[in-house]
Amino acid sequence: MKWSWRLGEVAGIGIYVHATFLILIAWIAFASWTQDQSVQAVVAGVSFILALFACIVLHELGHALAARRYDIRTRDITLLPIGGLARLERMPEDPRQELVVALAGPAVNLVIAAVLGLGLYAFGGFNMEAGFDALGGPFAQRLMVVNLLIMAFNLLPAFPMDGGRALRAILASRMDYLPATQIAANIGQAMALLFGLLGLLGNPFLIFIALFVWIGAAGEAGMVAVKSALAGIPVEQAMLRTFETLTPGDRLSRAVEITLEGSQKDFPVLERGALTGMLTQDSLLRGLADTGSDSPVSAAQQESDVVVDSHDMLEGALARFEGSSHDTVPVVHDGKLVGLLTRDNIGELLKIQAALETRAKRSPALENRNAR
Ligand SMILES: [Zn+2]
Repeated sequence: MKWSWRLGEVAGIGIYVHATFLILIAWIAFASWTQDQSVQAVVAGVSFILALFACIVLHELGHALAARRYDIRTRDITLLPIGGLARLERMPEDPRQELVVALAGPAVNLVIAAVLGLGLYAFGGFNMEAGFDALGGPFAQRLMVVNLLIMAFNLLPAFPMDGGRALRAILASRMDYLPATQIAANIGQAMALLFGLLGLLGNPFLIFIALFVWIGAAGEAGMVAVKSALAGIPVEQAMLRTFETLTPGDRLSRAVEITLEGSQKDFPVLERGALTGMLTQDSLLRGLADTGSDSPVSAAQQESDVVVDSHDMLEGALARFEGSSHDTVPVVHDGKLVGLLTRDNIGELLKIQAALETRAKRSPALENRNAR
């Protein structure tokens, strides 16, 4: 994630902190300063933040380790003001597994709060007067309260919060994944509106959360819709088959000619039939500026960071596409280049799928004939 700093690594998972997390830290530091204008108060505030920090990391590790039970790896964990974000390689398809992964995080906070509560009770450290005030009372007591708040907050049924995922998982055990996601996303956006309104009335922090939830819900619904539309379609059905290729010895002027004649922007570069890289439009333009149109393609071409097989499913190919900085990915089979997959291409296919689905809905009798 952009604007993140690496803090370290736990259980092989990189831990990062996002720049906006500093807003939360500043807010808490400010709050502890206004409460009691002393350095002591600020030190206490800062150490409290560090403890809070650790609890959020543990929350995310809860998700990550639950996912590991289902052989799902976690790319990294990033701390945001709203909580943490564990980027799992994929979400479990089985709703029951998704429910376990979603609830594992809040469960960690519950355990931390329970341990702190029991400790306070055992050593008679619970301050009745402070009760459940998140800003007052002894250190351990405040930490317990904050953990309960983190748990409750994350259980709100709104994407991208854990409660949203749990809700989707519960719905998905009764209906298809797509409508389940749409319902969960709608509820999430309704909650975002509510947060926004409450934020306007008093707490500006809520407006920020509202935005985060709104975007998260829309993103999740869109992603699942795309995935379900692409499910079961092999790459070869969507790839471009008619395209020009270049050799490393061709001049850049050749690429310019082809680009101007047609609409191809990115070219696979082949040497005796074997793929050696891609000449993307960006690399072509850079090459033209740096070394001129007479220089060879080999001087400007780039390695293709992602290559897909024509027999792969589009769903998986798209996931790898997301990790690529390029708009065009070469498609190979048996070691030979057989096509190109472009973002535009996939977009076209989605539009066609949507049109066919609309037709199938209008006349159910045709559904079988239109089945892919
Ligand atoms: Zn969580």
